[in-house]
Amino acid sequence: MRKTLIVANWKMHKTLSEAEEFVKRLSGEIADINNIETVICPPFTSLASLAVLTEKTTILLGAQNMHWQKEGAFTGEISPLMLRDLGVKYVIIGHSERRLYFNENSRLLKRKMAAAFNYGLVPILCVGENWEQRSARETENVIKEQLLGALEGLDIGKDAMQKMVLAYEPVWAIGTGNPAQGSEVGVVAGFMRSLLQERWGDSCQGVRILYGGSVKPDNIVEFTGKAGMDGALVGGSSLDVKTFAALLKAVSGERSA
Ligand code: PEP
Repeated sequence: MRKTLIVANWKMHKTLSEAEEFVKRLSGEIADINNIETVICPPFTSLASLAVLTEKTTILLGAQNMHWQKEGAFTGEISPLMLRDLGVKYVIIGHSERRLYFNENSRLLKRKMAAAFNYGLVPILCVGENWEQRSARETENVIKEQLLGALEGLDIGKDAMQKMVLAYEPVWAIGTGNPAQGSEVGVVAGFMRSLLQERWGDSCQGVRILYGGSVKPDNIVEFTGKAGMDGALVGGSSLDVKTFAALLKAVSGERSA
C-alpha cells in the first residue's frame, strides 16, 4: 500500500524566519494527521534550521535541487552528502523550472538521480509536457523521453526503486491557476506506471506518482482520488500555512472516508 504524499515546493520564497514561523504553525495544524506523508522543500538556506524544528513532528524535509558530486570545485552548488548530513530525506530532480531556466537535460538529470540513489535520498523526478507539446499530442512521447532519459541504464536497487517518487507536472498547468483535468492526469499516471512496469517489473510497485500544477484545497481530491495517483507536488498553495493545512486536511479526510 503506497502512502499518500504531499510535497510543498517553496521555490525561491521565504526567509529563514518566515520558514520557521510556517513550520511551527503547520506542525500544530496537522499534528493529528497520520495517514499522509508531508514533505516541505524550502530554499537551502532554511534546511538546517527546519531540520531541527521538524525533528519531533510528522513533517519531513526535501531539497529543491542538488549537484551529483559528493564535493568539489562547483561554486554555488550543494551536494547530496550535505543534504543527507542535515537529515534531508527527499530531493526534487528535474523540475520544469530547472529544465527551462538552467538547461537541465536528461543526461545531467540521470547523474542527479544516480547520486540521489547512492546517497539514500529519495528522488522526486518531475516530468511533464509544455503547451506546444500537448497541442501536438506529444505528451506521451515527452513523458517517455524524460522518464527513461533520467532512469534507463541506472543500477537501481529494489529498495531504492520502491521508494522513488515521480511527479507528473504539465508545464502549462504550473503556476497558471489552470490545472489539468483529473481524468487526463489519471491517464498519464497509468501510462507512466506501464512504462515502469515494462522496464522494471514488479520492483516499481511502490513508486508513488504525484500530480503538480495549480493544485488548491478545493481541487486537490480530484487528483489524489484518481486510481494510480499517490499525492501532489504543490507550489503556490504551499506558501500560505492556512491554505496548505486546508489542502492537507482535505486529502487526509478523503483518505480516511
Ligand atoms: C510546481 O512548481 O511544482 C507547482 C506545482 O506549482 P503550482 O502548484 O504553483 O502550480
